Amino acid sequence: MAFKHANVEDLYEIGVVLGSGNFGQVRTLTERATGTQWAGKFIKTRKNACSRLGIQRSAVEREVDLLQALQHPNIMALKDVFENRAEMVLIVELISGGELFDFIAGKDNVSESEAIEFLKQILEAVGFMHNKQIAHFDLKPENIMLSDKDAEHPNIKLIDFGLAHQFKQGEEYKSMCGTPQYIPSEVINYEPLSTATDMWSIGVITYILLSGLSPFQDYTDEETLKNILAMKFEFPEHIFNMTSDLAKDFIQKLLVKDPSERMTAEECLIHQWIQPLTRKQMANRNRSSINMKNFKKFNAKRKWKMSYNMVWMCNRFLRLQLLCRQSSVADGDLRDCESDVEDTETKPASLMRRRLSSSS
Ligand code: ATP
Repeated sequence: MAFKHANVEDLYEIGVVLGSGNFGQVRTLTERATGTQWAGKFIKTRKNACSRLGIQRSAVEREVDLLQALQHPNIMALKDVFENRAEMVLIVELISGGELFDFIAGKDNVSESEAIEFLKQILEAVGFMHNKQIAHFDLKPENIMLSDKDAEHPNIKLIDFGLAHQFKQGEEYKSMCGTPQYIPSEVINYEPLSTATDMWSIGVITYILLSGLSPFQDYTDEETLKNILAMKFEFPEHIFNMTSDLAKDFIQKLLVKDPSERMTAEECLIHQWIQPLTRKQMANRNRSSINMKNFKKFNAKRKWKMSYNMVWMCNRFLRLQLLCRQSSVADGDLRDCESDVEDTETKPASLMRRRLSSSS
């Protein structure tokens, strides 16, 4: 895809902020020519190799290449890319239904069968990626959205391919990136990764979805990582008393230390919890449900942490602007100035997720 050098604002009217990430904002866009709504992911790029803020152009190019290769109904679609000196803008499909977890938390009761309808779509998207030897490496609730929450059957959309990677034949790929509660031991130990790494994350997401409990999460990231390495997780009866045995079996076949022993997305789709063989299995699934009280608590806490991070980022941005003014920048281009200021402050853990080694 050729990157356009035109000014985004000439072609799109820029609207409200939909979300913020490590390297910029996502905003609504209205295409001036057609009135069609899109989302624009504005990513600050590094001016030079020494700058510590912003992301390298090559990283955005990689995200663009992967998104182009991933045209699937359950994966956010890419339309266009614009670039200028300080930032790149990905024009993507607008996903207006919010996060899956928020949608579920807004309900009074959700059966396993209903939860499975969403899980199936996640597995289909992930299976499609894995067939192309692409791993997401950052599957977590924040990256699982819904296209339209008012539809009868809301459609899952996976987002944020910033950490994704396409494996080349025989390639060994290692990375310490990810979000502590969702990563397996091969990430922590800096061992070769594979598409099976995503399957672990799906195991963690399913565990949380059914119980409102995060299987390995502890008071600190360090403790969380220790729990993962020790494979320390269980299904406390007082939390999982509404969960079917097949659901637990499904999770147990994903939270497996040896990546080659974990179920693949294809195997998940034919697991009997997802694809019941008997009427009894089907009835069990309908009778069993998400632990809503606990799930709502988990989600409220998660949202609180997200807004804490957002406030932290805004404060930091304001401080950087002040710094720029104090050093009387001649041309007043604050954006350029910002990307050259050394960032020596302590970030909240979730903002350090791209480098796990410094995440505690
Ligand atoms: P991170 O730092 O988490 O990697 P990022 O900079 O890669 O973030 P995204 O995760 O892609 O950015 O997007 C940030 C937030 O913007 C998302 O959590 C989501 O709330 C919102 N968002 C992203 N893409 C869309 C979209 N296509 N439609 C609507 N909202 C979106």
